Amino acid sequence: MAAQWAKTVRALADGREIRYYDSELRERSATDTRDLAPVESRSHTTLDALTGEWITHATHRQTRTFLPSTDLCPLCPSVSGRATEIPEPDYEVVVFDNRFSAFAGGPGHCDVVCFTSAHDTTFAALGLARARMVVDVWADRTADLTARDGVAQVFCFENHGEEIGVTLSHPHGQIYAYPFITPRAEKILVSADRHRRETGRDLFEDVLARERDDENRIVATNDEWLAFVPVAARWPFEVQLFPRRRVADIPDLDDSQRDGFADLYLDMLQRFAALFDESMPYIAAWNQAPATHRDAWWLHMQLFSIRRAPGKLKYLAGSESAMGAFINDTDPAAVAAQLRAAR
Ligand SMILES: [Zn+2]
Repeated sequence: MAAQWAKTVRALADGREIRYYDSELRERSATDTRDLAPVESRSHTTLDALTGEWITHATHRQTRTFLPSTDLCPLCPSVSGRATEIPEPDYEVVVFDNRFSAFAGGPGHCDVVCFTSAHDTTFAALGLARARMVVDVWADRTADLTARDGVAQVFCFENHGEEIGVTLSHPHGQIYAYPFITPRAEKILVSADRHRRETGRDLFEDVLARERDDENRIVATNDEWLAFVPVAARWPFEVQLFPRRRVADIPDLDDSQRDGFADLYLDMLQRFAALFDESMPYIAAWNQAPATHRDAWWLHMQLFSIRRAPGKLKYLAGSESAMGAFINDTDPAAVAAQLRAAR
């Protein structure tokens, strides 16, 4: 299934861009009628000299919308008498510049990605064609943002569920274009470099070979992708999705890999949703190559939940929050078995 969609770029009232992705070319001429003041940006990024990690302070985000009722949702299409972030009366997938960007005023950038105009649904219920279209949208935005000066790493992700801190329930994700390499990517690059020096081999290839051979932690596979609970899972329910053929980022995925991802990812989300008789909050996090380290990378996705049992959430307390040392109460092989049986 080759990519087939049209993109229309428009401006919102405060100058931010909105991009409509449509499965066929449509007139997208609605204007933003809101009286929006230009965004005041007050973010800056500071190096923590002790840890070598970059910390972003974005105090303007304190005023952002918090869990509005459905009839006030800013991600629903506009209707007469109520203008939202999306001026059109309907849409398929839209991406707009986040009004509450964590990196406003600097080289970084924050997008909001609305997966559907339907308020009361989830990514898991989007269906294959729409999920596949979202992969194309991630690819288009990643290519655009990676090409910008000062962008070091592009992070596409979805926070799902109030328990995870989602402030809007409309199905949406975000894209952060960081002006620095994130701590997780830095650590992976250091590990890969050390592995190369010590063994002469590629770390990603070795890790993937081990995960593939240890079948009791594989949840599901298809011709292009593997989904497994990693041997060092840090979250109660955690799955990693790796393409069998190596690529650095989402734009590098070919049509067959994009089709395969959409299929396996929907399957994983449906398994997560079927685990318990209550909502399953999750974070879906794309790990793409930093702009300067494309050859050293292997694209993958982390999908994990903070729910460890019905009625019980995993909180990041002293060991995790202060020391970064995770204590996980679940067994990776048992979790994989639970996920294989779910649905
Ligand atoms: Zn909505």
